[in-house]
Amino acid sequence: MSKIQSIRGMHSILPDETPMWQWLESKVRAITYRYGYQEVRLPILEPVALFERAVGESTDIVSKEMYNFLDKSGEHITLRPEGTSGCVRAVVENNMCYNTTQRLWYQGPMFRYERPQKGRLRQFTQFGVETFGMPGADIDAELIYMAWDIFKVLNVDRFIRLEINSLGTLPERKEHRKELVSWFNQHRDVLDEDSLRRLESNPLRILDSKNPDMQTMIEEAPRLLDFLGEESREHFDTLRTLLDNAGIQYVVNPRLVRGLDYYTRTVFEWITDELGSQGTVCGGGRYDGLVELFSDKKLPASGFAIGIERLLLLIQTTGGDSNIHHSPDIVVTYEQQEDNIEALLLANTLRQHLPTKKVFSDFSGSRLKRQHSNALKSGCRYIVTLNADRRLGLWDLVGNRHETLRLEEIWKTINAAGKTAFQTE
Ligand code: ATP
Ligand code: MG
Repeated sequence: MSKIQSIRGMHSILPDETPMWQWLESKVRAITYRYGYQEVRLPILEPVALFERAVGESTDIVSKEMYNFLDKSGEHITLRPEGTSGCVRAVVENNMCYNTTQRLWYQGPMFRYERPQKGRLRQFTQFGVETFGMPGADIDAELIYMAWDIFKVLNVDRFIRLEINSLGTLPERKEHRKELVSWFNQHRDVLDEDSLRRLESNPLRILDSKNPDMQTMIEEAPRLLDFLGEESREHFDTLRTLLDNAGIQYVVNPRLVRGLDYYTRTVFEWITDELGSQGTVCGGGRYDGLVELFSDKKLPASGFAIGIERLLLLIQTTGGDSNIHHSPDIVVTYEQQEDNIEALLLANTLRQHLPTKKVFSDFSGSRLKRQHSNALKSGCRYIVTLNADRRLGLWDLVGNRHETLRLEEIWKTINAAGKTAFQTE
């Protein structure tokens, strides 16, 4: 029989990994709650036109990476490659910013047809935050504080650094672009093929190039920061002060760009050196020009997105996953196979009286000895045994104590011992 395998770059998340995901998700969720952000759940399928307009046809995402198809009625549909576009669409479609601001978050799968490698998948998960209606550096700083809190509770803050930059406004960028294009034209001999193409479509992106032969030329290129007008400069200075006040360290990277016209002012990335070349864990910034592509109103906006798989890889690489597991607290075992119904009821009674404990019954049909060795492997704290003579045994693996007890003594003893193994918060 021919094997059917999962699509390249699209993975199942198996039970030995889900505890990590759940742990991370519960931490992230708690932070969104504390900052007063509300969840939105957006469609996974969207019209192709949404991304052509919002992300832009000159980008790698739209020109190369989208999973497009025609549905049965001939509509051009795609699997969403990122979250911001759908979120903006939902905000405009539902008039969510009428006389109010919005702070939103989402999490879910994104799809890009890229070359799969460590930290780069074809189906991956983003946690994203988008805010609407707030033009100042204050909200940009709040977003960065929030991302920083996430990295702190996940214990990866030591392994990650913040880079920031300002892209100014469109007119400021146009001035800079003229100078930049003329600089690149003077150095055409150094430009690689990709960059020559970008010189026409998106010269700012050339600054992003990793080609070692182009680095000196790029270092010396005209800097966008020198073209900022007074308001943009003030916005950037305020952001820097707000980060300094919060004790958040950063470097200003004048080469940090997002190649699209609707980006304005603040851009930032959180980067780690622990994951090789897929080191960008979070990217974000301000996109004051995006909403007006969908509506006749202008609406300032800013946000960020974290790649969850990269964040999990970082947690694993730096050893932060060693305490995250889902052992049961109590395993119920039984000596005689015909007592299986009794054992089922016994487990239920224990759950009722010990509402925070995880209780697991062994229905494998194995002999008692095998049940015990499986329970020991599971990492549980207690083994409760229903013996052939109907007496109940409690084995506390921490104190290595065996006792024969009545049912209510079992849950009272366990309760008295307090918090046991891993408990999800
Ligand atoms: P990269 O430069 O690594 O390709 P990007 O600029 O395409 O990233 P964004 O579109 O800003 O990434 O997406 C935000 C985050 O989503 C990235 O910082 C990264 O953590 C994650 N991400 C993007 N593409 C992938 C992918 N193919 N697989 C896994 N994670 C991804
Ligand atoms: Mg990419």
